[in-house]
Amino acid sequence: MPRTEKKGFVDVAAGLEPVGDLPGVGPALQAALQRIGIERIQDLWFHLPLRYEDRTRLTPIRDLRIGESVQVEGIIEAVERSFRFRPQLRVVISDDARTMLTLRFFNFRRSQVEQLNPGTRLRCYGQIRHGAQGPEIVHPQYQRVTAGASEVAETLTPIYPVTEGLGQKRLASVIELALRKLPADEVLELVPPILRKDMQLLSLRAALLLVHRPPADADVAALLLGTHPAQQRLAFEELLSHHLSLRQLRVQIRQHGAPRLRGDGKLRKALLRSLPFRLTSAQQRVNGEIAEDMAEAQPMLRLVQGDVGSGKTVVAAWAALAAIECGYQVALMAPTELLAEQHLRNLGAWLAPLGIEPVWLAGKVQGKARTTVMAALAADAQLVVGTHALMQQGVQFRDLGLVIIDEQHRFGVHQRLALRDKGRAGERVPHQLVLTATPIPRTLAMTAYADLDVSVIDELPPGRTPVTTVALSSSRRGEVIERIRIACAEGRQVYWVCTLIEESEQLEAQAAEVAFAELGGLLEGIAIGIVHGRLKPMEKQAVMDDFRSGRIALLVATTVIEVGVDVPNASLMVIENAERLGLAQLHQLRGRVGRGNQASSCVLMYQAPLSAMARERLTAMRETSDGFVIAEKDLELRGPGEMLGTRQTGRLEFRIADLARDAGLLVEVQRIGAIMSEAHPALCERLVARWIGAASNFANA
Ligand code: ADP
Ligand code: MG
Repeated sequence: MPRTEKKGFVDVAAGLEPVGDLPGVGPALQAALQRIGIERIQDLWFHLPLRYEDRTRLTPIRDLRIGESVQVEGIIEAVERSFRFRPQLRVVISDDARTMLTLRFFNFRRSQVEQLNPGTRLRCYGQIRHGAQGPEIVHPQYQRVTAGASEVAETLTPIYPVTEGLGQKRLASVIELALRKLPADEVLELVPPILRKDMQLLSLRAALLLVHRPPADADVAALLLGTHPAQQRLAFEELLSHHLSLRQLRVQIRQHGAPRLRGDGKLRKALLRSLPFRLTSAQQRVNGEIAEDMAEAQPMLRLVQGDVGSGKTVVAAWAALAAIECGYQVALMAPTELLAEQHLRNLGAWLAPLGIEPVWLAGKVQGKARTTVMAALAADAQLVVGTHALMQQGVQFRDLGLVIIDEQHRFGVHQRLALRDKGRAGERVPHQLVLTATPIPRTLAMTAYADLDVSVIDELPPGRTPVTTVALSSSRRGEVIERIRIACAEGRQVYWVCTLIEESEQLEAQAAEVAFAELGGLLEGIAIGIVHGRLKPMEKQAVMDDFRSGRIALLVATTVIEVGVDVPNASLMVIENAERLGLAQLHQLRGRVGRGNQASSCVLMYQAPLSAMARERLTAMRETSDGFVIAEKDLELRGPGEMLGTRQTGRLEFRIADLARDAGLLVEVQRIGAIMSEAHPALCERLVARWIGAASNFANA
């Protein structure tokens, strides 16, 4: 084992033995463990409980509350089997002969039923829901209680992430074996004590032991909330590891070379002359930052953050021209076809006077058209705009110098790398520019985008009018429709946005069709169009063109128009079932109006009654249109996972940390991360391997 001493800090690799070294862990179990990423003993130490079940007490049936997970004990009063819709078993228990709890089973074996007789005492655990005959638990965990065996658990019961063929009990017992091998702190710690001395953290060993086996006197409430000092200790280290892995990624990428793109500025000057507006000073500043990066022989890694409507597209055009001036190619990728098409149109219009014609590549470009595009990319195409189709196999560039990705939160690091690799030429890679409209609170950005430099466009183009926002119950739909009639009569244009909870394009399209038919009936004489994800690209394009040119006054749309769509004359937006959407999405949608010089408004129509959370969201929307304020609120209400779109990207999935809850740790994470990546690269690597393992393996970065 390597062993170096640094000021009383012992750097020893511990826990790296394979799990097979533990007694009783054979090949089958080893294989099951491997499926959840556990190969070495330390992986078991850091396989943390997802949550806890509180079986330290029995809740009286009369005190049950809907939604709570509880342990209950009672005598079986009645058992009933029925086959009305499907086989089901109802068992009614009581602990005081007056209040009853129903246990409901849809899957059960005969042997099970035979054990459940009136008079038998049961101990159950499960979540209480609202049943037809009062409180009930569906498929509770239960055991029969024989006299004398009725103590409750002394500690919280940890619930681990498991996998098929490996149950809670078995996993817990293996973890228990591994914990016996937990070494002393000097050996276990990877963050030098001198760096964390100001934080007054628990020792890592104590923290691990506590979260795996909370003692009887542990602060149960804190553990359930995830705010216990032991959890905070581990959350800190997990956040630090993620932060370090992104820093590593950055270092790796920056080891490559990149073409120095220091053009003569002619095309850029021509662009400024042909634009119908002057750049804001924020746009100019960001353009400057980008130009500086691109003039370096190392790849640019820059994120441009700017609220909806702040004018990111023209910044992208500027960067593209800087590359084109030097004879390099540029690829711009957007997450949806609608948005990519819009970029194609905007850039096409701005760049046509300069003699540059962007090439289009989306999944639907097939056959001969595709062959033509491929040939162009391999030869003299200067700029290609498209969707993730750009990352597909077979796409090859002549000399890709810059990759621009719009709406970063929909793509992940891996996808970014995949596109970049299209332009890999030996040790040289293209520059990368990422645009995002998701305003991210600063501390969060430092952690989530530690691999990128950040530029902020913190100024909207002049002449924007603030959007007045109201929330109205759907019972006032009639009034809202009247308002649309008046707006259209005044020559204004209107969006009607249909939303659904289910992320089903088909259902959403159906809802839009229904609204389209209804509004068509009520608003005679008004030209109505409809756009949704199920339309063919040509049809979509035709409708959008009609709306842009004013031939359509009212556009019924699904949330496909959420990102990027830009029609300045549209000044009223109605969002149906606004209570279903998150704040970030509402903000994006609302950003489609208020782009011209007329006073704009947004009507958030909701289905009463509102949940407390939905009420807060709608209130926030009424009170502010500042993307950063909304982002902070969103973070508070939802947590950052969703905010950053982790679902799609696989980025920022934590075992124990929660960015919203643990945001207070991030300043230290940033500070210690900076020192460690400078002074202790070997420790950083081990820390990342310990917490993130193969998941963060950007081996080819
Ligand atoms: P976003 O940052 O949301 O992508 P866009 O790039 O789509 O914003 O810009 C929104 C609108 O503002 C577009 O119509 C664009 O042409 C216009 N725009 C951009 N910059 C300026 C500016 N400096 N002055 C006036 N209008 C601008
Ligand atoms: Mg945009």
